[in-house]
Amino acid sequence: MARIVMKFGGTSVADLDRIRNVAARVKAEVDQGNEVAVVVSAMAGATNQLVDWCQKLSPLFDAREYDAVVATGEQVTAGLTAIALQNLGVDARSWMGWQIAVETDGQHGKARIASIEGEELIARMKIGQIPVVAGFQGIGPDNRITTLGRGGSDTSAVALAAALQADRCDIYTDVDGIYTTDPRIVPNARKLAKITYEEMLELASVGAKVLQTRSVELAMKERVRVQVLSSFTDAPGTLVVDEEEVVEQEIVAGVAYSRDEAKITVRKVPDRPGIAAAIFGPLSDAHVNVDMIVQNLGADGTTDMTFTVGKTDLPRALQVLETARQGIGYAEIASDPNVAKISVVGVGMRSHAGVASTMFRTLAERGINIQVISTSEIKVSVLVAGEYIELAVRALHTAYELDA
Ligand code: ASP
Ligand code: MG
Repeated sequence: MARIVMKFGGTSVADLDRIRNVAARVKAEVDQGNEVAVVVSAMAGATNQLVDWCQKLSPLFDAREYDAVVATGEQVTAGLTAIALQNLGVDARSWMGWQIAVETDGQHGKARIASIEGEELIARMKIGQIPVVAGFQGIGPDNRITTLGRGGSDTSAVALAAALQADRCDIYTDVDGIYTTDPRIVPNARKLAKITYEEMLELASVGAKVLQTRSVELAMKERVRVQVLSSFTDAPGTLVVDEEEVVEQEIVAGVAYSRDEAKITVRKVPDRPGIAAAIFGPLSDAHVNVDMIVQNLGADGTTDMTFTVGKTDLPRALQVLETARQGIGYAEIASDPNVAKISVVGVGMRSHAGVASTMFRTLAERGINIQVISTSEIKVSVLVAGEYIELAVRALHTAYELDA
């Protein structure tokens, strides 16, 4: 017997037939003698609709009321899923965040879970009742409903799995696992049987959008075994686990890409101490996240600074730099939104040399110019012109012998 949290995303509960399918899957786990708790998202499209309504009434909506509205999507699916389970003769009961309680901080719209009271749910599971928990929502210090940010029901599920000391957290979605790269670009991408938390975290943060990044951070911290799988097939999914559990470790686990960045170059800034602070201080004050950074070698007492920001932050970043022009003292600013970040990720890089040079050589052979490079212990990222995404991803996938 195992204790399992089963989480179903929006596409898995998109209509009544799919909710019936979810109930049948839950019943199958229960029939095998497992203790099960279920976490559900809103029906596909429901949250977008709710967000849209808030925005249409007032672009500067009150975040507390936004949470009151958008949390309803999950309330609907929790109730419907409980009914579908009862219909199959399974004892089930819905739970909203405040009823459990899932306590969060007070950052409405992007709250963080502080603690979850698990005892009542464990007691229910022990007598064979299935808790069906509304994902994405909690209750804040002001006793009002909070939500966890888009994609947050993944985090609800992992946090619940930790609180219930579950053996596994199964995240059912519309893809059947984590692939070595996006199968829409590389049709012979391979599904990974296992991936480490750290690799998953890097992949989630550089554009592989299967799991909310925060859910992976939490899984790593709480050592929750997560499985990503499809609710539409019976294929085994991908397990996200500790490094020790991955026996046959590839050097590179995957190749990811992101179109979400834009490049800024600040030309001819004085090459003196404090210049980086003069540029990045005002950006940080304006909550613009800077990702990759390169500073050229100085000549004639000046240098160029190139960096990337989120594409949606580009107008704000340019405005901030314009305002700070006096303090920085640059000659001109160039920006380019048509760039892509390509990353190779793998814990094997810690012990194997040559991963970065393979990347650079492969791109050079295809005539792809690298604009910016950044590295971490288990990741190498390069910025290239946007039109090269597909060519670069395919070439790297082959170069690291990831093709099926
Ligand atoms: N329904 C919420 C959203 O669409 C939460 C989730 O599905 O994870 O972002
Ligand atoms: Mg999701």
